[in-house]
Amino acid sequence: MFAMIPLITIGFTDLVAAFLFMYGLKRMSSPVTAPSGIFVAGLGMLAAILVSFLHAFNVTGAAESHLMTNIILILIALAIGGGAAWWSGKKVALTAMPQMVALYNGMGGAAAGAIAGVELFGDEAKGTTELIVTLLGALIGSVSLSGSVIAWAKLDGVLKKPFRVKGQHLFSGFVLLVTLAIGSYLVFAVQDNGTPWLAVPHLIYLFFGLALVFGVLMTLPIGGADMPVVISIFNAFTGLAVGLEGYVLQNPALIIAGMVVGAAGLLLTQLMAKAMNRSIGNILFFDFGTAAHQKKTDIKGSLKPVEAGDAGIFMRYASKVIIVPGYGLAVAQGQQKLYEFVKLLQAAGVEVKFAVHPVAGRMPGQMDVLLAEAGVPYDLIFQLEEINDDFKTADVALVIGANDVVNPAARTDKSSPIFGMPILNADQAKKVYVVKRGQGKGYAGIENELFYGENCNMVYGDAAAVLVKMIEAVRGLGVSAAS
Ligand code: NAP
Repeated sequence: MFAMIPLITIGFTDLVAAFLFMYGLKRMSSPVTAPSGIFVAGLGMLAAILVSFLHAFNVTGAAESHLMTNIILILIALAIGGGAAWWSGKKVALTAMPQMVALYNGMGGAAAGAIAGVELFGDEAKGTTELIVTLLGALIGSVSLSGSVIAWAKLDGVLKKPFRVKGQHLFSGFVLLVTLAIGSYLVFAVQDNGTPWLAVPHLIYLFFGLALVFGVLMTLPIGGADMPVVISIFNAFTGLAVGLEGYVLQNPALIIAGMVVGAAGLLLTQLMAKAMNRSIGNILFFDFGTAAHQKKTDIKGSLKPVEAGDAGIFMRYASKVIIVPGYGLAVAQGQQKLYEFVKLLQAAGVEVKFAVHPVAGRMPGQMDVLLAEAGVPYDLIFQLEEINDDFKTADVALVIGANDVVNPAARTDKSSPIFGMPILNADQAKKVYVVKRGQGKGYAGIENELFYGENCNMVYGDAAAVLVKMIEAVRGLGVSAAS
């Protein structure tokens, strides 16, 4: 009833999808080209979806009788998945992005696991390599699914504390070993006996179950501060699982998309670990943050609050101001007000730069996106290594809703959980203003001696509200900015 679609059309559409994925990813490497990169990669996804339909039309015999039902099922799945993604994407706050990314990763893992399930429970004969690849994809996809759900729960505050008991890592290792042993049995022992592996469905269920349990066990002990890195690891896992299942299905678009996501996730994980000066093994197996709760650091000096208006006026008469945005700015949604304040300072002849730490916020690139959203020109935004030497010559470092990324303990205190993490040298500016609501700690949960320094004043309040007062004070001096 349905005409066969020539394989060349499928191959060509696969190629187009792969090209669009890679080109889109390339454009995402700079904030200037990122929005168009996302659009291009989205077109790639559209081509990949289209190719799935072409595959569906390319069937004969018994499969043809199921074609219409399958297409209706695919369309329903697309409507539900696409609708939910559209709705959540529109609704999500920028601060809740990491949670959303965690859930999407989990969905990718689930999709890979589901493909593996269909393949494993299907009645088609499989060679040893195919079976190994299917099971590997099932394992990695399932770990990624359950681990991502735990990561989501931690980031969303549903799970508030890391769950740690003695011997936990040993137990998790044991669960993984048993899972691998079952997988090996399914591949080798059962096949060697001449028994089809399908004859042991309970072992396949157990394999999936244990893989899901391992994902939970692996993620539970990791602290909230490390969750973005964990998400990035699961992102790489999901890509790998999808790529492996693409091999099983002999679907080039899936293989390429999976490998691109896997490689990008791995690179991002490495970059984040480097920015925190920790190894990936340390992040996964070291109980980050516990030492800080046990040891109270002795900090000299006192906190010296000042009024927002006074700080604003001081900056109007400065020559050079470097602004360090952090997670609190995103919480307050103060980016528009911040740029309004910056334009006033510029109109008064002050040189203003932004210093962005690679792990400022809760997700890589969160600050760049936040500032871009407010229309801050890219040439005002500098990364850590580009600007760190500039603080020495700055009159003011204005730290807004940032804490850990300017904590000098990272340089000096060997017992600090953030020791060795490169930080922005805000303490080296002549004057430091720190905008935060109160005595709240940063993500690492530790004190910050910068706040007690001789050159530092605290400006207490919600970042957006403080910025409004600073703007009013500078305007009160007769300064106005061309918008
Ligand atoms: P941070 O250390 O978490 O500090 C944020 C500060 O903002 C808090 O001290 C809080 O103090 C203040 N704040 C919260 N809401 C505010 C509001 N509405 N107005 C004003 N201030 C507000 O943030 P960060 O300096 O950006 O550091 C990021 C942390 O996340 C680091 O520990 C980093 O290692 C971790 N991390 C990030 C990534 C990533 O990819 N970006 C990955 C892994 C880990 P108050 O409560 O007193 O207001």
